[in-house]
Amino acid sequence: MPAIESFSEAITAFGVPRESNAYAKAAQRLYADEGRIEIDDQVVVSEGDEGAYVMAWVWVPDSALQGDSSGASDDPTPAGSFVTSQFRNHYKCPKCDHVWSDVWSAQCDDDCPACGTRHVSPHKSDDV
Ligand SMILES: [Zn+2]
Repeated sequence: MPAIESFSEAITAFGVPRESNAYAKAAQRLYADEGRIEIDDQVVVSEGDEGAYVMAWVWVPDSALQGDSSGASDDPTPAGSFVTSQFRNHYKCPKCDHVWSDVWSAQCDDDCPACGTRHVSPHKSDDV
C-alpha cells in the first residue's frame, strides 16, 4: 500500500463509495443539505451496535465566527430582551438646571454629569 500523503488519499484508502454503503446512502438521504451538510462520494463509515457514524462535512460561514471569543451564549437572546426592558430617562438637575438623558434598564436615578449632584430622579421616561 502506498504512503498516504493527503487527507483525500486517506479517505480514498479508508472510505467506501457512498452508493455501495447502506449507512452512507441513508446519511445522504437524512442529512445532506446543499451548502450546509455535504457527504462526499467517498465516505468513512464507523459502524456501531445499532447504527453507524458516517463522515460528513458541515459548513461554517465566517459570520458564525463573530462574537465567539466573548462567548456565544451572549448572542442573540439577551440582546432581544434588552430591547423590551430599556428606558430612556430624561433628567433635569435641580441644582444647575443641566438637562440630559440616558438609557437604563430601569427608571433609576442618575448623577448630574455637569455638577455631580447625586441621585437625580428622571422627570420623564420613554420605553426604548
Ligand atoms: Zn447639576
